[in-house]
Amino acid sequence: MAIWISHRASFAILLAGAACLMIAPSASAQANDAEPATRQANAEVLRSLPFADRADFDDAQRGFIASLPDGLVLGDGQRVVWSMKPYAFQQQAAAPATVNPSLWRQAQLDNFHGLFKVADRVYQVRGLDDSNITIVESDTGLIVIDALLSAETARAAMELYYQHRPRKPVVAVVFTHAHADHFGGVKGVVSENDVRAGRVKIFAPDHFTEHAVTESIIVGNAIRRRGMYQFGPLLPPGERGQIDAGHGKTVSRGTFTLIAPTDLIKDSYELRRIDGVDIEFHLVPGSEAPAEMTLYFPQFKVLDMAEDTNHTMHNLYTIRGAEVRDARLWSSYLGEALQPSIRSCSGKRPSRTPLRPARSRWKETPASSAS
Ligand SMILES: [Zn+2]
Repeated sequence: MAIWISHRASFAILLAGAACLMIAPSASAQANDAEPATRQANAEVLRSLPFADRADFDDAQRGFIASLPDGLVLGDGQRVVWSMKPYAFQQQAAAPATVNPSLWRQAQLDNFHGLFKVADRVYQVRGLDDSNITIVESDTGLIVIDALLSAETARAAMELYYQHRPRKPVVAVVFTHAHADHFGGVKGVVSENDVRAGRVKIFAPDHFTEHAVTESIIVGNAIRRRGMYQFGPLLPPGERGQIDAGHGKTVSRGTFTLIAPTDLIKDSYELRRIDGVDIEFHLVPGSEAPAEMTLYFPQFKVLDMAEDTNHTMHNLYTIRGAEVRDARLWSSYLGEALQPSIRSCSGKRPSRTPLRPARSRWKETPASSAS
C-alpha cells in the first residue's frame, strides 16, 4: 500500500496579499443571472464529462478524523481569519446555471475539511487554508511539511492534530516550494528561537529564498493586482459571486510569516534521515514553482508530490503573471516520480484533498492530476 500526497494550493500569495483580502467584499446587487449562452455552455459541460463518477468524493473523505466547527479560525480581536461557513450554499447537488458544473464539483470536493489520517504516522489537515499541512510522526517528534499561508490557520491546524494525537514537539519543517501559502504560517508551527537554537531544522529546495522573494516582493505589486482577477477574493461567496479557487476555497486572512531555511536540498535526489524517518527528496525546479521538491517516505510508502499533481491546470500557467511553467519539464518529473516510488506502490495516493489509487488511476490516466 502506498500513498500519494500533494498540496493543493500553489499560487504565490503575496506578502501584503492577506491585507487586501480584509477589504469588505463588494456588493453583489449587480450580479446577473446566467445569460442563455452561459446556460448552454454549462449544460454542455454537464453532458460531456462523467459526473456520475463519485470516486473523488470517496477519496476526499477517506481517513477523516475530526474538524473544527465550520472550519472557523479566529485571529486577534475575534477577527475571522478563515471560515467554511460561507460555502454552505454549495451543498446542493446540481450546479446553478451561473456556475460551470466542473467548478461546482471541484468546490464541493474542496469543502471537506479537517484532520485526516493518510497512513500510519502520516496525517494531513485540509481545508483550513487554501493549502494543506502534512504531519509525519518521527521517532521523538513531528516533521511538518508545509505551513499554510497564515500563522493563525497553521496554529489551528496543529492544535486540531494535537486534540487527537500525542503532543510531541516539532523537530523539523519542510517547505516543499517557494510559494507563500506553503511557508507563510510557519510561525504558527514553530518559533524562530527554536530554529535559531537548533532545536528545529527547516528544509527547503535549493534557491528557495531568492525565488520566494522574487515572486512575492520584487514583482509583488503586479502579481497581487492580477491575483485579484484570478481568484476573485473580493467577491462575496455565492452562486453569482465567489465559488472556489480550484485548488482550494480562497486564501486565509491572517498573519504572514517566514523563517529562513536551515538546510537546503541541493542534489536532484537526496536521501536524508530526519529523527528516524527516511525521506527521499527529489528536486523538481521549474515545474509548479521555480524552486520545488517532492518527497518519498520509503518506510511508509508515502509519496508527497508537493503541487505537481493537483486537480487543476496548475502546472501550465497562472493568469496572475507568475512565471510560466514548463509543461514538458513537469511531465518529465512525473515520469521520474514513477521510478523510485510507484514501483513499490500497490495502493493509494492522496492527490490534493483526496486519496486516490496510485497505480490504477494515475498510470492509466496520467492527465487526471491536472484536469
Ligand atoms: Zn505552489
